[in-house]
Amino acid sequence: MIRKMAWVESARNIVFRESELPSLKENEILIKTEYSAVCGSDLHLYLDLHPYVKAPSAIGHELSGYAAAVGSGVKKIKVGDLIAAEPILVCGDCDYCLRGDYHMCNTVSYQYRKGQGGYTDYFIIEERWAHQMPKNISPKEAALIEPLSVAVHGVEKAGGMLGKTVTVMGAGTIGVLTAAMCREKGAAKVWITDLNDHRLRMAETLSGAIGLNAKELDVAEKIKEETGGAGCDIVIECTGTERCAAQALDLVRKLGIIVQMGISAKPFKDYPYSRILAKEIILKGSQGYCFDFEKSISLIQAGRIKLEEYITDVFPYTRINEAFETVMAPDTKCMKALITY
Ligand SMILES: [Zn+2]
Ligand SMILES: [Zn+2]
Repeated sequence: MIRKMAWVESARNIVFRESELPSLKENEILIKTEYSAVCGSDLHLYLDLHPYVKAPSAIGHELSGYAAAVGSGVKKIKVGDLIAAEPILVCGDCDYCLRGDYHMCNTVSYQYRKGQGGYTDYFIIEERWAHQMPKNISPKEAALIEPLSVAVHGVEKAGGMLGKTVTVMGAGTIGVLTAAMCREKGAAKVWITDLNDHRLRMAETLSGAIGLNAKELDVAEKIKEETGGAGCDIVIECTGTERCAAQALDLVRKLGIIVQMGISAKPFKDYPYSRILAKEIILKGSQGYCFDFEKSISLIQAGRIKLEEYITDVFPYTRINEAFETVMAPDTKCMKALITY
């Protein structure tokens, strides 16, 4: 059987390569993809600016689909089940894996880095990474469980939020999901910053956060004004830009918490790190997810978050380059784009 899979051949140039589908191992499941979602972290690779991966490379890591075949050793999943794929690869034997912190595995990787990208009509995954969807979760929602899990992980890193003030920097899908989860967790007030007004308006509707356009006002001044001069309790940085990472140090209060979720394509040059000590800021990183798919699934199932509302565009795989250009445009009206086969 032949499958088609997206490869970034060079910057801004994705082509679908055809290859023979490997035969299923006994613990593996063959997924017939329904939807793959375009992620902000795919954009680095699309532009060939990814910090760890260079073109040519397979691309994509957010997908849902139905089990088309299961290996002889597969226990729970049946042919026809709707699956959300957790695209991580871990050893299972190192200290971190054994402690349950599998996202910190000494040899952690992701499927696309090992040649199996998420933009493909057939995806093979071990049963342990195949999350079975309850009846009331749709294939579109299932494709967004991966980014929701990233947001859940980051918000958990920030700790208790009841009654606290939070600023989320960046109104892409991860930022908006993060803002929604902060509200869910009891934050008193959540602001979300971006340069794109359309995204900010969408963010307000989707997450209930207050949008602030950094092009139009000084975000740090505004947050200080809103918090009696102190700054907010928590900042979750979802852009990965030096400008926002530096600004986070400014708008968080003394002894406040910053969670860094955005990935930077290049090293920071003028990052004012002395402010971390001057204000005794607690700076935390948030990387991927670890037992967060389960939390995401129960949140969707309980109706706490409506993921379909985040989907603004659906492209056939033949127009994948256009999908990326649409997501990337500075004045884009796109929040989340899906690819179909
Ligand atoms: Zn993603
Ligand atoms: Zn490991």
